[in-house]
Amino acid sequence: MSKIFTDKDANLDVIKDKKIAVLGYGSQGRAWAQNLKDSGLNVIIGLEREGKSWELAKNEGFTPMHTKDAVRDADIIIFLVPDMVQRTLWLESVKPYMKKGADLVFAHGFNIHYGLIQPPNDSDVYMIAPKGPGPTVREYYKAGGGVPALVAVHQDVSGKALQKALAIARGIGATRAGVIHTTFKEETETDLFGEQVILVGGIMELMKAAFETLVEEGYQPEVAYFETINELKMLVDLVYEKGITGMLKAVSDTAKYGGLTVGKFIINQDVRNRMKEALQRIKSGKFAEEWIEEYGKGMPTVINGLSQIQNSLEEKIGAQLRDLIQKGKPKS
Ligand code: NDP
Ligand code: MG
Ligand code: MG
Repeated sequence: MSKIFTDKDANLDVIKDKKIAVLGYGSQGRAWAQNLKDSGLNVIIGLEREGKSWELAKNEGFTPMHTKDAVRDADIIIFLVPDMVQRTLWLESVKPYMKKGADLVFAHGFNIHYGLIQPPNDSDVYMIAPKGPGPTVREYYKAGGGVPALVAVHQDVSGKALQKALAIARGIGATRAGVIHTTFKEETETDLFGEQVILVGGIMELMKAAFETLVEEGYQPEVAYFETINELKMLVDLVYEKGITGMLKAVSDTAKYGGLTVGKFIINQDVRNRMKEALQRIKSGKFAEEWIEEYGKGMPTVINGLSQIQNSLEEKIGAQLRDLIQKGKPKS
């Protein structure tokens, strides 16, 4: 078992006199800035443009600054803009203006692991990666809890990088739950693998394939939608609350037998081999290379894929059924 750090392992003192620049005020940026501030830390917000985030930060009690001004005297610089934006932000607005030796902090390892950002060798470089979306990080903190996180150290010049990572984890509430020690490599590769193979890619295609199989065989799409897409939530909720065993115990014996036998026939060795192939593509940097190129071209594959899915039969049926389910919900 990995070591789990909690509040007793994390001391805010190591960062309490530091000036912390949070770059970005989106999903994570907004939550981190507010939680760190409520934890009594000295937070400033750095933004590139006076747009939506700028207004929001101002309305929520911060005085946002342009990135170059925010990083000028910051001791800790936290990158909370989208991963594909971080390299340009680093090169244009952080590196030329930052204080020598300031800490560089990330919520995901992508830019450091794949070498898009090459940190100066006198900076501590570490990561705190919350295992939940920003609004949840904020909501749990406010309610006295916290979302678990991973921490990792890429470069430790001061000898205190891990302590500082844990202090920030405490500042955002993560040590109230628990924090696991990892590396930039492990966090980046497992995160990409998870979203490609199961969370986003695998599940989506499994749902679509099952739905389309039933429809092609003449079953009503509404019925197919309930059975192959809509009910997934209940099963996932069971796994989330009680594990796979709990899920299996909750379904009928027929579903148990069918699932235990046919599941392996669908997700067979061939699928597992392709999972390893997908992992290899992540480990070699090939996926990152391809994604950076796609992003540079304006994401044509993403835009096209999204529009194909938006216009699919399952999405039309899903929208209708959600209306129907909504109507049936008791108004309390
Ligand atoms: P968001 O997409 O929510 O970031 C939005 C912020 O970035 C806004 O302040 C926005 O400013 C600014 N921004 C967007 N585009 C640009 C640009 N081209 N130039 C300058 N600023 C820009 O990011 P997330 O919070 O989702 O992600 C931040 C980091 O956290 C990433 O490293 C991500 O991997 C990591 N992370 C995210 C999780 C999540 O659930 N979202 C979970 C764990 C880690 P404006 O309003 O002006 O557009
Ligand atoms: Mg992830
Ligand atoms: Mg991810």
